[in-house]
Amino acid sequence: MLKARAAVQNLPTYDPPLAGRDGLRLDFNENTVGCSARVIARLQSMTAEEVARYPEREAVEVLVAEHLCICRDELLLTNGVDEGIHLLCETFLEPGDEALIVVPTFSMYEISAAATGARTIRVLADDDFRFPLDKVLLSITQRTRLIAIANPNNPTGAVVEGRAIESICAAAPHAAVLVDEAYYHFYGQTVLGAWRERPNLFVARTFSKAYGLAGLRIGVLTGACPAMAMVRKVSSPYNLNSVALACLPTALADDEHVSNYVAEVRIGRERLQEELRAWAIEYWPSQGNFVLFRGGELNQPFIRAMRQRGILVRDRSADPGCAGCVRITIGVAEQTERLFAALHESFDEIGLKQPEAV
Ligand code: PMP
Repeated sequence: MLKARAAVQNLPTYDPPLAGRDGLRLDFNENTVGCSARVIARLQSMTAEEVARYPEREAVEVLVAEHLCICRDELLLTNGVDEGIHLLCETFLEPGDEALIVVPTFSMYEISAAATGARTIRVLADDDFRFPLDKVLLSITQRTRLIAIANPNNPTGAVVEGRAIESICAAAPHAAVLVDEAYYHFYGQTVLGAWRERPNLFVARTFSKAYGLAGLRIGVLTGACPAMAMVRKVSSPYNLNSVALACLPTALADDEHVSNYVAEVRIGRERLQEELRAWAIEYWPSQGNFVLFRGGELNQPFIRAMRQRGILVRDRSADPGCAGCVRITIGVAEQTERLFAALHESFDEIGLKQPEAV
C-alpha cells in the first residue's frame, strides 16, 4: 500500500479558509486594491512566444538585486516566500534536527520544517506578544538548524529589533536564521545586508502584499553568497513562471503605486487602533498591514456579523495565546470607511457598548 513518509503522515495541515471569499477581503493580508495598472497591461501583452519558452530568471534577478542594492548572487527569486521557506528547510534540515519558531506566527515554517522530519521547537511569545529573546537564546541547541522569525510577525504585528536578530545569529552560527520581512513595507526597518557580518542570516521579502501580486507568487530570498549557493542547488531553475517574470520589472518600476498604497494603509492602521482604543477593546500595536484584537466570547458572532455585511475578517482564535482573537487587514481610506461602518453595526448587533467618554 502506498504510504507517505512518517514525517508527512504526521504533518499539521494548513487549510486557509479560501472558499467563498466574496466581499471586502480583509482576511488574508492581501493588497486590497490590486497591483499597478501597468502590470495588468504587461500581463495582457504576453505573447505566445513568451509563454512557449521556459522562464528565464536571471535578467529579472539582476533588476531585483539593483532594486534592493545587493549583488545578484545574494538573492534567489522564489515562488512566493512560501517556496523560500521550503527551500531553506530542504537545504538545512535533516530528520531529528530542530527548527525553532516563536509562536504565534505564520504556519508555513512549521509545516515545511516538519515535512523534512525535523522537530519544531515552539517558543511562546512574551506578554503582549513581545519577542522572547532570552527564551529563544536559551532554546538554541546543537541540533538547531533553522530559526524562523517573521518581522513584523503575522498575526500579531509585533516586531523584533535588529540587535536581537544579530545576537540570535551569533548564538547559533550552525543554524540558518530566516528573517521573513513579508510585511517590510508597512514597517520600514530591515536587516537586509546584515548577512555580510552574519553569514547564517537569510532575509525573505514578498511581492504578495504591498505590490498586490499574491496571485503571481513572487518572493525573494536573500543571504550571503555561499549560503545562497547552497539553497540555489535545491531550487528548480524554472520555479517562477513566465507571467510573473514578465510582470515583475513593470511592478518594480511603478514605485509610486506601492508607496501611495502603503501610506494609506499606515493611516488606516492608526485609525483602526484608535477606534479599538475608543471601544476599550484589547489589541496589539501592529507594524503590518493588519491589526489583531481580542473579541473574546463575542469573537464568533462578530466575525459572522461582519460577513453578513460583506466584510471578511480572519478568526485567529486557534493560534497559541490568541483565544478569542480576530485579525483585520487594513485597506485604503474608502475601505476603512466601509470597515468602520460595518464594525459599528456589528458591535451594535452583538451587544458591544462603547464606554462612556470621560
Ligand atoms: N510570510 C508571512 C509572515 C506571511 O504572513 C505570508 C502570507 N500570509 C507569507 C510569508 C507568504 O508570502 P508569499 O505570498 O510570498 O508566499
